Amino acid sequence: MPSTLDPELRRALAERVRYYHELGIYDFYRREPWISALTGVQAADAGRLAASLSSTSPSGSYSGSFSESYSESPSELREEMSARKSAAVPAIAEETILEIAAPKPEYGTADPVAALKLIREDLGECTRCKLHKQGRKQIVFGVGNPRAELMFVGEGPGADEDAQGEPFVGRAGQLLNNMIKAMGLRREDVYIANIVKCRPPGNRTPERDECETCSPFLMRQIAVVKPKVVVALGAVAAKNLLAINAPMSELRGRWYDFKPAGVRSDDPGWPGARLAVTYHPAFLLRDPRQKGEAWKDLQMVMKYLGIEPPKKAAE
Ligand code: URA
Repeated sequence: MPSTLDPELRRALAERVRYYHELGIYDFYRREPWISALTGVQAADAGRLAASLSSTSPSGSYSGSFSESYSESPSELREEMSARKSAAVPAIAEETILEIAAPKPEYGTADPVAALKLIREDLGECTRCKLHKQGRKQIVFGVGNPRAELMFVGEGPGADEDAQGEPFVGRAGQLLNNMIKAMGLRREDVYIANIVKCRPPGNRTPERDECETCSPFLMRQIAVVKPKVVVALGAVAAKNLLAINAPMSELRGRWYDFKPAGVRSDDPGWPGARLAVTYHPAFLLRDPRQKGEAWKDLQMVMKYLGIEPPKKAAE
């Protein structure tokens, strides 16, 4: 007895789900007649598929506040992949499409602390991609206010994050902290996560399959936190969140409407987030002249969130 779906049917279903996602439709109901109308598919397979598709309901100037400079790390050296104009973002794998269409343990959990815990538990000691066997010490899930209005998304943990289990705790993290402070916020006010939750060996750029495997968990975190604004730190985060390939010069300086892909959001009060792109702090460590540009990006965010920058002590 085959225990998997007919490949052609699977492909067609994945295509259809992808199409619905493009239309902004993420919730699916089970309808029995539809199942029984399927031909050539084992009933068990059809039931499993239906279950997997069902859910309970279908320019200002830089203030200098983050001007500390640090030495370079390998990840800093690769930030300017922003200038890389590679091929268009490929379609999401069918497996991923079907997986993200499935109901999630946190659905129906109103408390974001509990919901994030459920996502963390679902992630487990993840072995879904090859990063788990390439030297990661621990999974770096995400940190911060589970009800944050502002969320920062980086690329992936580095050595310090891998050692401590928390995103942005190394040099780039110190600069990110300074950026947050310059905005008049504290690190505890925001939520911080990465596209991939395991350290890529040698701080290499996370590969496509690693991002595709891991980002559904990030999408679920975003859907739970429901931030007003997501700031993508660097080209890798921007490219993965927005599914577009463009240089940083094109990505920055504008707003995007952002809805976490493949996740059901049944909160009518949260239509999604606005997303802004800025330079990765590691890149700013390498090229501090760009800090003024990053500050412009953050000012755009502050304006939208109604945040006044803190007054300088001397003023
Ligand atoms: N760089 C990232 O992209 N994320 C981290 O958590 C640390 C450095």
